[in-house]
Amino acid sequence: MKKTNFHTHTYRCGHANGSEEDMVCAAINMGIEELGICEHIPLPHYRRHLFKSLGAVRSLRSLLSLIHAFIKNGPSMRMPYKDLETHLEAISECQKKYQDQIKIYKGFEAEGLEEYFDYYQSLLYEHKVDYLILGHHFHKHCIHSDYYGKDNMKKKDIYQYCNDVEKALDTGLFSYLAHPDLFMIGYKEFDLDVRTVSQRICEKAKALHIPLEVNAGGMRRGLRNVNGEMLYPYPNAHFWQIAGEVGNDVILGFDAHDPSDFNDGMYKQMMQFCEEHHLHVIDHFDFLQGHIEKFQGEYDIR
Ligand SMILES: [Zn+2]
Ligand SMILES: [Zn+2]
Repeated sequence: MKKTNFHTHTYRCGHANGSEEDMVCAAINMGIEELGICEHIPLPHYRRHLFKSLGAVRSLRSLLSLIHAFIKNGPSMRMPYKDLETHLEAISECQKKYQDQIKIYKGFEAEGLEEYFDYYQSLLYEHKVDYLILGHHFHKHCIHSDYYGKDNMKKKDIYQYCNDVEKALDTGLFSYLAHPDLFMIGYKEFDLDVRTVSQRICEKAKALHIPLEVNAGGMRRGLRNVNGEMLYPYPNAHFWQIAGEVGNDVILGFDAHDPSDFNDGMYKQMMQFCEEHHLHVIDHFDFLQGHIEKFQGEYDIR
């Protein structure tokens, strides 16, 4: 099996280190043959989006992070929309410069936000990117109150996550589902509700032939004690037990936020996790192009 990775960030999102080229070189050094640069997607009229989020603010922390994002117009979660072309151009440069050493693709890790589905569709139709992956961190608004990785996730939150993900996958915009078990950071106990939600997500992905990602980002956070069991925040052992039973295709994602995240130790750790859970690991997947029904052929970014 080839070593590949389709989940790579750069300094541009505001919480990672390394330029496009730094990441490419690090990937080449560890023998990765195919690489997708896949930043948190920059969003047009982001300030308008944030402004509309005001009503969903439930905590001081959320309000402060919203103000911060509003002032910066993106960072620290994603690059400002005005940097989109420069970023894609930097990847094109790398594609040319390193074409004999590595195959490079353009992608974005995108939120399942309905208000942006037309925008995503236009990126794919215009071939600005090769693929999108669904990294669903937020319900409706990119603010902390709506964050699916927050502490003290409620039952309502995990069902909402599941509904959001199912709806997003149905659009055909997303070629794989990144860290599908992200919600386990703040829910922890694997009760009947999580079992139901996990089963639904795995079966939806399976029915649509969309791979699930075992994500190194959660592994880098290390094991933690949950009721006497040592578990990663994600990938969660119980979730992946279900994915193994459902028979999902599984792709490894370094979720690299620093050139040093590309290392053989992490690759082995992910592979070992997959073996332990009898997962069907693949090294490539189809790039889906979306089928947004009412899409008008262009997206007004003003
Ligand atoms: Zn990130
Ligand atoms: Zn993510």
